[in-house]
Amino acid sequence: MAAQRKTIALFGGTFNPVHFGHLRMALELKELLDFDEMRLLPSHQPAHRETPGISSAARRDMLALAIEGCPELTLDERELNREGPTYTVDTLEELRAELGEEVSISFCMGLDSLLSLPSWHRWEQLTKLGHLVVVTRPGWQIPRDGEVAELLASHRGELQHLRQEAAGRILVREQTLLPISATGIRSLIERGRSPQFLLPERVLNYIQTHQLYKSEQ
Ligand code: ATP
Repeated sequence: MAAQRKTIALFGGTFNPVHFGHLRMALELKELLDFDEMRLLPSHQPAHRETPGISSAARRDMLALAIEGCPELTLDERELNREGPTYTVDTLEELRAELGEEVSISFCMGLDSLLSLPSWHRWEQLTKLGHLVVVTRPGWQIPRDGEVAELLASHRGELQHLRQEAAGRILVREQTLLPISATGIRSLIERGRSPQFLLPERVLNYIQTHQLYKSEQ
């Protein structure tokens, strides 16, 4: 019988702020793919995006409040503690060194991220260090040719591989996303409107107490 390993998944993002779209997706992936751990991984200074106009500590605090009382989701702060740009490959290398060769590591991303993968730092190393779980929306097309299509063709895997192998597979999952975005929430607050019911009450209270997102920070 094939090896059954511990499975650890990472769900990365800026979480500026965290909202129910992120939380539902992370929880659903953990349950549907049967991960032993699902870690939310806030990025410090994303290489491909603007630096968020808010402190890393505030984004971390909001995440911690959001997952209070939800043992299914945990927080991995390693990227916040790193100076300079965040590269996923560095994070996976660090985790691999920490967890050893046997543990299965999965990095979850949206299809949009997969399409831009060839521009990521040392992208060809990623599947050597872990699996990639790609979430796509119903109706979205996976590319048929190019570097990403080749990568998919040579690494495509199924659910059982996540427990049988430590790294090297790409699993594509079709999933419905809640129509919520952090950009939309920031924009509501900037315009003096309420984002209530789009994110946890505790996170909203934090935003109000600290007067976050009121204007460009
Ligand atoms: P922004 O609006 O600032 O771009 P965002 O809400 O898209 O932010 P990110 O922090 O960039 O959030 O995303 C973190 C992760 O969550 C990414 O993998 C992204 O694809 C995913 N994500 C974002 N919004 C949703 C949603 N509504 N449902 C499920 N996953 C989401």
